Amino acid sequence: MKKTLSLILAFALVLSCAVCAFAGGDADSFGAYKRVFIIGIDGAGRFIKDVDTPNFDRIFADGAVDYTARAETKTDSGPNWGAILTGVSFLHTKLENGTASSVPRTSDGEYPSIFTYVRREMPEAELASFVHWNAVNYGIIENDIGVTEVNITNDSELTDAICAYFDEGNDPTLFYVQLDEVDAAGHSKGSESDEFFEAIKRADGYLGQIYDSAEKNGLLDDTLFVVAADHGHTRIGGHGGITMRETNVTVAFSGKTVAKGGKLDSGARNRDIAAASLYALGIERPGNMSARIPADLFTDVSGEPASFSKDPLDSFVAALAWIITSLTEIFDFI
Ligand SMILES: [Zn+2]
Repeated sequence: MKKTLSLILAFALVLSCAVCAFAGGDADSFGAYKRVFIIGIDGAGRFIKDVDTPNFDRIFADGAVDYTARAETKTDSGPNWGAILTGVSFLHTKLENGTASSVPRTSDGEYPSIFTYVRREMPEAELASFVHWNAVNYGIIENDIGVTEVNITNDSELTDAICAYFDEGNDPTLFYVQLDEVDAAGHSKGSESDEFFEAIKRADGYLGQIYDSAEKNGLLDDTLFVVAADHGHTRIGGHGGITMRETNVTVAFSGKTVAKGGKLDSGARNRDIAAASLYALGIERPGNMSARIPADLFTDVSGEPASFSKDPLDSFVAALAWIITSLTEIFDFI
């Protein structure tokens, strides 16, 4: 009887090791990071690649960069920062500029942000969000979960506040920034203007300051560092539509398990940052989150296929929008 029991135990041990080995292919990046930093550059779209951005280039020299990730098909900030931070289409979260600005968000909703998911797993963790457009802190990130929220309507001063926050010894597990002045330049002069490109160059300077301050304070080890745009701008300026100039966005990742030279797969969305962030911190993704891990992001994860059945409405709208978007690129006059 004892021998039989030993045999059963030994068999169970071998089986569990085999299962470990099988799952091991996907296990390294899961929970491999202590922190996720997301630096948002509002309105920068795909245009970072058209500008001399030495800081972006050095930060992501060993990283994965996609300049043509897809934004939400309502290319405004509310839907897109909302999707990036919840991993869910704005069609479900109802996060638009108006709601983000006027309806304070709490953590009891159906589609919480990744801040809430991190808070549930890590009650003591420092979480912080520094933004220029205060609607993100008001109506997208939940107000009842103890996130350090700072609103400053000047990108330079916002950057100084971030550096001071790091210098004070703060060590956030999840950290979000929204710079806004590229968007302002896009509105006033359009996405082909020198003013717009100069604004991207200045944002790159702020990015460099934030990155260097984090590095100086020992905050970059085991950190998944992300830069994202919410949407772009038309030629003449403005957004909200579905031209390629508005819907193509930059998404860039740097971290110890990020695929060097990775470009993400062609279906990557900016909302996928939510999935990658939870994965990096070792937090299971909720079933109602349509964001996924794109291929060519992490070295040890082959990527998850886009799932039509997970969100048929979003998939249908996105496919229809893509056809129209492709036509706008053929007649690239807007
Ligand atoms: Zn705008």
